[in-house]
Amino acid sequence: MKAVIYIRVSTTEQASSNQSLPVQESKARGLCQQRGLHVLRLFADKGESARTDDRPQFKKMMEYCRQHRREISHVVVSDLSRLARNVLDQGQTIVALTEMGIALVSVDEPNLDDSAAGRLLKNVLGSMNQFFSDSLSEKTKDRMAAGVKQGRWLWVAPLGYQNDTRTKQIVTDSERSPLVRKAFELLAEGKSIGDVMRQVTALGLATRKGRHIPKQTFSRLIRNPFYCGWIENNGTRVRGTHDPLISEEIFNTVQQRLSGKAPTQIVRDDFPLRGFVQCWKCGNNLTAGMVKGRSKSYPRYWCWTPRCRSTSVTAEELEKQTYHLFHILQPGARTLAMLPTLAARTWDVRKERIAADAKSLVRRLDEQNTLNQRAIKARLMGELSEEDFKSFKASTEAETERLQEQIRALDSERSTMEELVKQADREIIDLGESWRSAPPRRKREIQTALFPEGLAYDPESGYFTPRNHSFCQSFITMLEQASLVGVPDGI
Ligand SMILES: [Zn+2]
Repeated sequence: MKAVIYIRVSTTEQASSNQSLPVQESKARGLCQQRGLHVLRLFADKGESARTDDRPQFKKMMEYCRQHRREISHVVVSDLSRLARNVLDQGQTIVALTEMGIALVSVDEPNLDDSAAGRLLKNVLGSMNQFFSDSLSEKTKDRMAAGVKQGRWLWVAPLGYQNDTRTKQIVTDSERSPLVRKAFELLAEGKSIGDVMRQVTALGLATRKGRHIPKQTFSRLIRNPFYCGWIENNGTRVRGTHDPLISEEIFNTVQQRLSGKAPTQIVRDDFPLRGFVQCWKCGNNLTAGMVKGRSKSYPRYWCWTPRCRSTSVTAEELEKQTYHLFHILQPGARTLAMLPTLAARTWDVRKERIAADAKSLVRRLDEQNTLNQRAIKARLMGELSEEDFKSFKASTEAETERLQEQIRALDSERSTMEELVKQADREIIDLGESWRSAPPRRKREIQTALFPEGLAYDPESGYFTPRNHSFCQSFITMLEQASLVGVPDGI
């Protein structure tokens, strides 16, 4: 086994003898000897300048590790604070080394592998708070102020919704909303605008005054992100307070089709991180699909939000990063044993969510039935051609099946969570490994149990992005509430 030693001293520390380079070196060499590690190279940063934070040797060391990753088994430091100037950097460095399959050993923190995990968790994630809290709280404030103003639609409700004059809220128009939703579903299936317009018109979609919907109006309707929950105004986009009629996924699929780029048909379960990982910039969920390469297609995740599109990453890279994040989160045996408690806490909330979801799915099933009956009637009345009727019926059946599948998935989520809670009671799990080896549905269970609100991803810095601060913070809070993490001794 071969090791690399890294030592560092800042100009202010040079006076103090117990931090001097020779002391650090001899400590590190001592450990290598003790563990039978052959020292390949030593890198020393002497902190010539107190003002710049250049660590040329550190960079060289990391580069060297990358080039000789197969040979090197360990990086040895005398204590963690040598490794990087702050805990965030430490976290990133450890992730980078872990990725290369290189273990980090610290003389002063002999239990790094075990106990430091909890501490690392706390420090790496906790420091995000400290690092980003200023800029973030400002942004959040602005965003919230804007949200109050713009999250509520102040104008006449789009078709499929109504203005509730009493509450001043936008409410769903139960008469038209099923038809608007159906229009999006049909378009997502790849039907042409003309066909879809004809079908929903035959089934009774009309303006509030009972008039025929002009083509232009319909064309605007199917491009309006209001239907998937967004309010766009003056180039800004905010979450509306109204109930979306369709999922963002369906909306995006329709937009892709309208722009002439037919999305590749994707198997849902191929992308466990879909709906979990968000764009670091706009915060919307990443979309996923197969992207054509030269000779074959590759799975990829990317931001599909107009005017953003800031994130794009291969599925392989994103999954690798996720694995490493969960791996460094691995909080030691004691904390892991408490995971079921944590999971149980979010579990109550999720049970409620599942119940609500199930209810709305059942309602949507009813809707499909009603639409189906309407179609039959319209066909009998001769308002719908045989061809349109057939294609409409096929779509209703497909949608019914999809809804039933989702209801089944909810049932399975229920039981998986219960199982996970029980199982974690008995065994110690390597979070990274159990995530990696899990089937897609189970992957979702694990990632959502850890981060119920998902995580943002930045191609530059991975999961170490300011947007994750609040999620990470809530995770830490959960740990603290369960008194699982000791007070960190501040590096
Ligand atoms: Zn984005």
